[in-house]
Amino acid sequence: MQSQVEILNSFFLILSFVFGCMIGSFLNVCVWRLPRNESIVKPRSKCPKCDTLIAWYDNIPIVSWLALGARCRHCHTWISWQYPLVEALTGVLFACVFARFGVCMATPVYMVLCAGLVLVTFVDLADWTIPNEVTFPGIPLGLACAVVGMFYPGSGFLTKDVFDSLGGIVLGGGILYLLDKLTLLLLKKRGMGFGDVKLLAMLGGFLGWKSVFAIIMIASLAGSVIGITLVVLQRRKGIEEEAHYLPFGPYLAGAGLLFLFFGHAMIEMYLGLMHAPAPVSVFPT
Ligand SMILES: [Zn+2]
Repeated sequence: MQSQVEILNSFFLILSFVFGCMIGSFLNVCVWRLPRNESIVKPRSKCPKCDTLIAWYDNIPIVSWLALGARCRHCHTWISWQYPLVEALTGVLFACVFARFGVCMATPVYMVLCAGLVLVTFVDLADWTIPNEVTFPGIPLGLACAVVGMFYPGSGFLTKDVFDSLGGIVLGGGILYLLDKLTLLLLKKRGMGFGDVKLLAMLGGFLGWKSVFAIIMIASLAGSVIGITLVVLQRRKGIEEEAHYLPFGPYLAGAGLLFLFFGHAMIEMYLGLMHAPAPVSVFPT
């Protein structure tokens, strides 16, 4: 009996990965087309260089890129490694969601959240914007999860009541909004983009108000370490650029993902440090 469950779980884990890779392939299309205001359904994918339609067998996630040696079949232009990266990343995240949440209502919803965060990350890196196509539907969806979680405790959602989620939206959006206004007032320049405000509001809505503190902490820490490293590396190479913009969206998205998978353990660890009666557990239950 036990082994049958294990076989079934492994099957669903692999299925989640394959499904994630396929969604990742679609996300690649969105990363390219959303900032250009092009339709994401029509027309079919073409090589941006030679305009040849891409056949289905050249459009299989990861596999086609490897089989073609990272070149277009027709004009032999390089195809960026970003394509298989987005596909593999989405596949791994979907498998992680299944491994963490199992068979429950929350699993498909959190897969959608992961896909949205991958999209936000790569659009922000390429275009320095955070697509409203993710955050506008994302905020009410996060709130809806909390409502469902209230009535069906077995649904697996991390937010257990509406106030947890609403608090997350207000706190997440509010903190970054104030920070933006403060930077504008003190330094006379834009700090956060308004896209970051909506992104953290969305994450707070999905993950609850406590997540907002953890996400800000992790994102700023990672942001400063990576930002300073990049500046030092460029100095060493002798590249003197004017202060360039570093997008904050990918750090927020990454920190949100960490909280999705390890938030429970983070909160328990924090409570343990505060000598609260909650037990310290490293692994999420
Ligand atoms: Zn081509």
